[in-house]
Amino acid sequence: MDNFDEKKDVMLSDCPVCGSKKSLHVTNKTDNIPYFGDILETSVTCDKCGYQSSDSISLEHNEPKRYILKISDEKLNTRVAKSQTATITMPELGLKVEPGPKSQGYVSNVEGILSRFEQAVIRAIKLEGEGISEEVQNNALDILELINNVKMGELQTILILEDPFGNSVIDDEDAESELLTPEEVDKLQTGFTTIDQ
Ligand SMILES: [Zn+2]
Repeated sequence: MDNFDEKKDVMLSDCPVCGSKKSLHVTNKTDNIPYFGDILETSVTCDKCGYQSSDSISLEHNEPKRYILKISDEKLNTRVAKSQTATITMPELGLKVEPGPKSQGYVSNVEGILSRFEQAVIRAIKLEGEGISEEVQNNALDILELINNVKMGELQTILILEDPFGNSVIDDEDAESELLTPEEVDKLQTGFTTIDQ
């Protein structure tokens, strides 16, 4: 990660949490990240109360794009770059991950995406705890089995990556790509504040 084009500046501000004057370090950093383009990361830390927060804003406006890949066992190593603004869907398995305020961009492969879905289902089961209904539990176990079948190459399914800022990619010659319509873009979550240029 050391070949990124990085620019950083820090200023002091008043803390919105504890109200101390000039105790808040505001760091603005622009990064150029492979696949994702220019990103502005703002993080704040308060010396007095320890308040911390961070936010990222994409400075790139590429065309909104959708990638569709049929996953088979030869596609498990296909590279996937998911920006903070991307939504990943596996419609046949009923799985969808939408960007939230804490979303991170990452570069992984299809198998890595499947593992992330697996972890998300396991976390959801744990959150339900002892009070989990048999129906919810069985449903979750069915999904885990389906994900595992895809990982083992026993089940083929569709992976969809949609990014209103076009900073995501399924890097495979067999992946179909198309532009999103404005209506489709409106329905997507972006996970952070966007700047209209
Ligand atoms: Zn503070």
